Amino acid sequence: MTAGAGTEPGVGALLTVEDGAPVALENADAGSRILLVCEHASRRLPQRMGTLGLSTEALESHIAWDPGALAVCQLLAASLDATLIYQRFSRLVYDCNRPPDSPSAMPAVSEIFDIPGNAALSAAERLARTEAIYSPFRKGLSDLIKTRVANRRPPVIVTIHSFTPVWHGRPREVEVGILHDSDSRLADAFLADAAEDETFVTRRNAPYGPQDGVTHTLIEHGIHNGLLNVMIEIRNDLIASKDGQRVLAGYIGDHLGKALMRLEP
Ligand SMILES: [Zn+2]
Repeated sequence: MTAGAGTEPGVGALLTVEDGAPVALENADAGSRILLVCEHASRRLPQRMGTLGLSTEALESHIAWDPGALAVCQLLAASLDATLIYQRFSRLVYDCNRPPDSPSAMPAVSEIFDIPGNAALSAAERLARTEAIYSPFRKGLSDLIKTRVANRRPPVIVTIHSFTPVWHGRPREVEVGILHDSDSRLADAFLADAAEDETFVTRRNAPYGPQDGVTHTLIEHGIHNGLLNVMIEIRNDLIASKDGQRVLAGYIGDHLGKALMRLEP
């Protein structure tokens, strides 16, 4: 994409009225403290970005989004009476689980795909994407947290993601990953509760962990505010169908609820 001749990059330079807002909020007045976050909910691209030089196959694949993650979030929002905030545009434009100075915020390569539209981005183009996609998402989440804390309802941050069953040709055994950074309280409680449950292969910090740079949201919004937080990764073949999404939302909701009871009975 280009910022456009004579156009100052900034808010509004990238998204059109038809594109709509970058951030979506559901169940804003929910009663529980759980705040669900889905950074990779969508594979939509802003109109002005075209296809980024990618095939339809690539644009529909897991490199563009986390298939099934939003559907699981929406089921959890209903069953747990939780607020949900999610990004309405593809991580190929800006990956909202990365800070602006991270090379993977706007990746030029993802797994086996080169992303021509992300090669050799200028500083102005990077700034335009950051201001149009990342900044409103960060502010939306941060404002929600501030309001809840001010109202003495400190939220519990739960981010939901999905990962591909095969990575560079190798199958992944893990089915559910419970990820954390330096604050492992909620992850520990979830894993302790899920230890007796053999429904899924559930592992700590798998298939990724903090060393892969995937805990940006947890650090920025959870740890910096002293809030309980966890990132949950689901293997995407398990949530390709509505039935699968219901089963996983049930499994996660059950153990999350019990984990919170363990921490704050
Ligand atoms: Zn993700």
